[in-house]
Amino acid sequence: MNIKTIQKISYGMYVVSSKRDGKFNGQIANTVFQITSEPPTLAVSINKQNLTHEYIQSSGVFVTSIISKEAPMPFIGNFGFKSGRDIDKFKEIKYRLGKTGAPIVLEHTIGYLECEVLNIIDVGTHTVFIGKVVDCEILTDEEPMTYAYYHQIKGGKSPKTAPTYIKEEPKKAVEISSKYKCKVCDYVYDPEKGDPDCGIKPGTPFEILSDTWTCPICGAPKSEFEKET
Ligand code: FE
Repeated sequence: MNIKTIQKISYGMYVVSSKRDGKFNGQIANTVFQITSEPPTLAVSINKQNLTHEYIQSSGVFVTSIISKEAPMPFIGNFGFKSGRDIDKFKEIKYRLGKTGAPIVLEHTIGYLECEVLNIIDVGTHTVFIGKVVDCEILTDEEPMTYAYYHQIKGGKSPKTAPTYIKEEPKKAVEISSKYKCKVCDYVYDPEKGDPDCGIKPGTPFEILSDTWTCPICGAPKSEFEKET
């Protein structure tokens, strides 16, 4: 059995959000899929440790905002690598409330599906919430971001709580390079690529980045980076 076969499954990139007691939270999820068309239903798989899980469980509603291919890494980092227990993820984000009162992300979103939970399936580390679509709309004509695009082109990583997280094997060969890795989220700064979303041109060595530069995924400062060996 080759467990890596499971990495050949294709996914999209979404912000799944919900509400509780007048507060909002959302997280990045790639495991969102349509279950039936009559009535239209969706399933999302959410880690039990995540605050969004608590919110969906208590309110019985969630919104899936479909992320555009052009979404920058800091946007994904805000929802994917930070916890709503530490920050208000919607503070700097444009959103509006849907029919259910859950927040619809209006930035870098090509459309949304708003759901009421019909069924809950306990699958150990995660819960699969099955929701009936109560409202949905296309917001722009842009292309959606795929999970493969996020990993291959954007250099994105999966947090340990993602359903599709796979532990990386330690590198064996020591190569001479000046890539630097974020100790918080495992993002790797590659000087060949730079950090175009934050205005850092390709070909910029890590060493000359300003001290105010922060990890484009999790916002950690430069001091949290270590040279890749
Ligand atoms: Fe980071």
